Amino acid sequence: MATLRFHALSELLSRAPKQVKLPSNKVTDYYADMVFNTDSMRKYLSKDSFAAVKAANAKGGTIDRKMADGIASGMKAWAIEKGATHYTHWFQPLTDGTAEKHDGFIDYGDDGSIIENFSGKLLAQQEPDASSFPSGGIRQTFEARGYTAWDTSSPAFIVGTTLCIPTVFISYTGEALDYKTPLLKALAAVDEAATAVCQYFDKNVTKVHTNMGWEQEYFLIDEALYQARPDLVLTGRTLMGHSSSKDQQLDDHYFGSIPERVGSFMVDLELEAHKLGMPIKTRHNEVAPSQFEVAPIYEEANLGNDHNQIMMDLMKRVSRRHKFRVLFHEKPFAGINGSGKHNNWSLGTDTGVVLYAPGKNPKTNLQFLTFVVNTLMAVYKNQDLLRASILTASNSHRLGANEAPPAIISAFLGTEVSAMLDKIVAEVPDHKMTPDEKTALKLGIGRIPEIILDNTDRNRTSPFAFTGNRFEFRAVGSSANAAVSTTVLSAAVATQLREFKAEVDGLIETGVKKDEAIFQVLKRLILACEPIRFNGDGYSEDWKVEAAKRGLTNITSVPESLSKYLEEPSKKVLVEGGIMGEKELEARVEVELEKFVYKIQIESRVLADLAINHIVPTAIKYQTKLIQNVQGLKELFPEEEYETLAGSRLELIKEISLRTAAIKSKRKEMIQARKDCNVMDDGFDKAYAYDQKVRPYLDDIRYHIDKLELIVDDEMWPLPKYRELLFNC
Ligand code: ADP
Ligand code: MG
Repeated sequence: MATLRFHALSELLSRAPKQVKLPSNKVTDYYADMVFNTDSMRKYLSKDSFAAVKAANAKGGTIDRKMADGIASGMKAWAIEKGATHYTHWFQPLTDGTAEKHDGFIDYGDDGSIIENFSGKLLAQQEPDASSFPSGGIRQTFEARGYTAWDTSSPAFIVGTTLCIPTVFISYTGEALDYKTPLLKALAAVDEAATAVCQYFDKNVTKVHTNMGWEQEYFLIDEALYQARPDLVLTGRTLMGHSSSKDQQLDDHYFGSIPERVGSFMVDLELEAHKLGMPIKTRHNEVAPSQFEVAPIYEEANLGNDHNQIMMDLMKRVSRRHKFRVLFHEKPFAGINGSGKHNNWSLGTDTGVVLYAPGKNPKTNLQFLTFVVNTLMAVYKNQDLLRASILTASNSHRLGANEAPPAIISAFLGTEVSAMLDKIVAEVPDHKMTPDEKTALKLGIGRIPEIILDNTDRNRTSPFAFTGNRFEFRAVGSSANAAVSTTVLSAAVATQLREFKAEVDGLIETGVKKDEAIFQVLKRLILACEPIRFNGDGYSEDWKVEAAKRGLTNITSVPESLSKYLEEPSKKVLVEGGIMGEKELEARVEVELEKFVYKIQIESRVLADLAINHIVPTAIKYQTKLIQNVQGLKELFPEEEYETLAGSRLELIKEISLRTAAIKSKRKEMIQARKDCNVMDDGFDKAYAYDQKVRPYLDDIRYHIDKLELIVDDEMWPLPKYRELLFNC
């Protein structure tokens, strides 16, 4: 009998929900308890230190080194009171996760005795010997060090007994080595460009911030079963497994009652998240069995993204307490829904206006339309860049699958906003507008709020959808660092807004009135970006044909998609837009190509190993049993009767031989293909080769394994099956 699988299944029977006790019935009693936020700063910092942090925040820079000691000692006092013994600069290298290196608060005092110390120098900047993180060749190993510097716009927090200080991670020569640095630059760029455009409508606006509200989807798998699946442990997805007879056909999991064990996990998770000042609000069952979602109320994007990263880490840790493992892979199971991370994105002003929410009068609505149209145009011009920001080895399984956004980028607006844009096109004349024409148009625009409130049409099939007061970038993968998509989107919109402003200003200079200039440019943009607007079914085959006719790109290959980063439109947004230098951009692409290659390489190695060490021996053992049985029949029965009786078993014996032979020969070919790829030097060549020459074997080999799973004696099958993995909560 396959012992590990059955041992895991019997473990499951003894699982019980873990009771979680909340410190209080009121969230507000413990919310942000572990965050060095404004309230705790006021308490622990001197007036000058407090002002220094606030000033740094306001201008988005770093703190004055002279002030750092004072701030550090206040932060240390707070942290020690909360039980912290260590501190770390917490950063987001170009890997799938965050990084931390803990140092104790201890040091030698002047007289050689041990003291508790945390200086300003250590707070502001550090040099972790982080030479093993991917840098895309920016750091040669002899100058491998990078340094981390405090991002004062994201508050320090305590996890366990460690004070975590959010930081950027930069090379000695000044290039960004992380996801946070370009994000901060993109947020600053869109702030500047959007504030300038807001000036047309409201002179009081001095700052525009970006909002992010993420929705994190995930799977929970019992830890015993997880451990019995080396593919899940090593690659985050199942490389084999025949579909379960029942999975999500009945939609009986989606929004169903949350299983008790999972409920306890969620309560525990939310408790930890609330203590860390994350406004977690929503939890529910998702479409696939064992799939769930968690979402906060939206926040400023840099903070929101930090929170998503912290949350993913928390989810890994808290799930273990409940004897679960959390899966963030975009497609852990073939044939059922995968997981995404909807990235709800909007801009808001320091006067309290969400720029994607319709306003109260024609003027604020014109502002709303200005931002919507410019965003559409940015998406239209940068479809390839946006896709490059989200298409990874793991997300490529999900995009274009029948339940996920396609690899064609389009934008859904809903019928009402679409009609509004069409109205502008129809009613803005080519000649100078008459006062009557202007009044009529403004009246029409003034009516937006009512129509949007009634507008309940939601399109789940669109990769980029307008949802009433924001755009929802749905193609983002569940395992992604959402900083990447937010950086690209914000930078693209910034570039577009700058161009818009230049064009409108140009018209004003020629004597056109401001409103009219805005209308004229909007009309031009609406017409130009028409192909990106699509309100229909993004999952349909018809859309692929229609999108091609419209000239929209449809790219499913990861290396091809990444190559778009290096083309002119992308460079215009990222390099000319001041988000990263050309060298940094190239380095990032190199890192992404490398990650892609490694992920496929690992999957291929794991599959080869499992096929030969788990599957083929099991199949042969079963075949031997069949052969013995058939031989027995032959001894017992006369020839004719034997043939009828043994017929189906003889077929099975043959099928097993054919399938195991196919697995073995495909495995051999796959290994050779890997070898051929591995000698390639060029990053792109190698990634294309892995995609085209190695990756197809994963499906080919799996096909035979899944067929064997159907015929081999269930008692002998070594790996937990889909029905077991998916129905265990
Ligand atoms: P769904 O899209 O499933 O209906 P919700 O209504 O729960 O989801 O919202 C999803 C996320 O969008 C939440 O994090 C929410 O706070 C966020 N959100 C709402 N309004 C905005 C906005 N203007 N900008 C950014 N995010 C927003
Ligand atoms: Mg949503």
